[in-house]
Amino acid sequence: MTASSIATAAYIVASLLFILSLAGLSKHETAKNGVVFGISGMVIALLATINLAVQNAEAVAIVLLLVALAIGGAIGIWRARIVEMTGMPELIALLHSFVGLAAVLVGWNGYLEHQYFPLESLENIHNAEVFIGVFIGAVTFTGSIVANLKLSAKISSAPLVLPGKNYINVGALVLFVILTIWFVASPALWLLILVTIVALALGWHLVASIGGGDMPVVVSMLNSYSGWAAAAAGFLLNNDLLIVTGALVGSSGAYLSYIMCKAMNRSFISVIAGGFGIAASGGEDTDYGEHREITAEDTAELLKNATSVIITPGYGMAVAQAQYPVADLTRKLRERGVEVRFGIHPVAGRLPGHMNVLLAEAKVPYDIVLEMDEINDDFASTSVVLVIGANDTVNPAASEDPSSPIAGMPVLHVWEAENVIVFKRSMAAGYAGVQNPLFFRDNSQMLFGDAKDRVEDILKAL
Ligand code: NDP
Repeated sequence: MTASSIATAAYIVASLLFILSLAGLSKHETAKNGVVFGISGMVIALLATINLAVQNAEAVAIVLLLVALAIGGAIGIWRARIVEMTGMPELIALLHSFVGLAAVLVGWNGYLEHQYFPLESLENIHNAEVFIGVFIGAVTFTGSIVANLKLSAKISSAPLVLPGKNYINVGALVLFVILTIWFVASPALWLLILVTIVALALGWHLVASIGGGDMPVVVSMLNSYSGWAAAAAGFLLNNDLLIVTGALVGSSGAYLSYIMCKAMNRSFISVIAGGFGIAASGGEDTDYGEHREITAEDTAELLKNATSVIITPGYGMAVAQAQYPVADLTRKLRERGVEVRFGIHPVAGRLPGHMNVLLAEAKVPYDIVLEMDEINDDFASTSVVLVIGANDTVNPAASEDPSSPIAGMPVLHVWEAENVIVFKRSMAAGYAGVQNPLFFRDNSQMLFGDAKDRVEDILKAL
């Protein structure tokens, strides 16, 4: 059997494993298997590719390959070990930028390394692949870097508002189409340089114009772009696995962006056009009255007398690492016969599924962890809601104040419950920078301090 037929067979197996991996990741119960399938697919793909290279290459190339593998593997393991759950989105954004850069380099290589084409039409297709691959890759590269800088707060998360910004984006796309046709007709080097510069600038501008509140959608959109960039590189390198994997990443990223837009009640176009996440203009001056405070001991008392409790966690639970005492509290209350459930907003925390991962880590049973749509009608009949480090995802202004910057975003209706206890450290706004009238409602009380400390205090008092 030749190395290339071994590789073809291995690529088919790896593709199937990637599909199984995606299917597994869609449910709590099967997520771990999904990860195992993904890792296995990647190991098979890597081994087959190395084998292919070893068969055809000289010693120097093999050494270079192994050195690159060792350096890349070491950095990957190191980063994955030290990354905090809260830093995952920015790490993912950075990884997308590598895929983009790789696609640009593969495209440039495809141009510089002159190949022989028996037919002119094949050469035209090759040139179009080079051009499109470089364009998508370069947009992904700079877009992902900006997303990384915004998410890690190294640059402001406020949207950049250049005059006529939508015209700039549309103009760049039109220019790209014209340049592609030109390049296919006469593949000159300056055209490739020009499209690289245009795409780098477009990627930067596109993401810089989008505000902080929309970053989850941007990250999954860039995920999708990186997939298409990989697929474009796959066409150039004549590598079926790269095409299949790129298409899987591209389409699943696009679908995830769609689900998130639906969760925030926004259209994909309005996200790309940017603007969301600017601090509220009118609403911020509104006087909501005074807030009330409660102690951990009084909260424990309230919980003892409750029949049903819903916990709605948010980003603050991740920051405080409060999931472990929250799991203990859940266990204790359930032992006392209190019905305890969790209400999870689709964009709570800083990445999709963030809260589910934390709760699974702390061994909270899956069957009491419910999605927003499954639990939203039950708040009205609930004795106590514990809002643990959530803010934007429980903001009533989203459904009641049409002038709010987050108007229309579906939120957890926690305010309908008999008592709402909000765990946070101050009266500061959440991620979208919008004031939350929930804190001033008659049935709301604030439990100030680090969420982990306060939940532990409640456990002691119980
Ligand atoms: P928010 O980010 O709106 O609010 C988190 C709250 O937690 C803050 O108000 C903060 O208040 C509090 N907090 C922080 N640290 C602690 C701590 N140690 N102890 C107690 N409280 C703490 O949270 P949500 O989860 O409700 O909303 C998520 C937001 O993030 C949405 O706007 C969403 O669009 C956005 N987003 C979501 C992503 C995703 O994919 N899930 C990705 C990127 C952004 P204080 O400082 O007073 O303590």
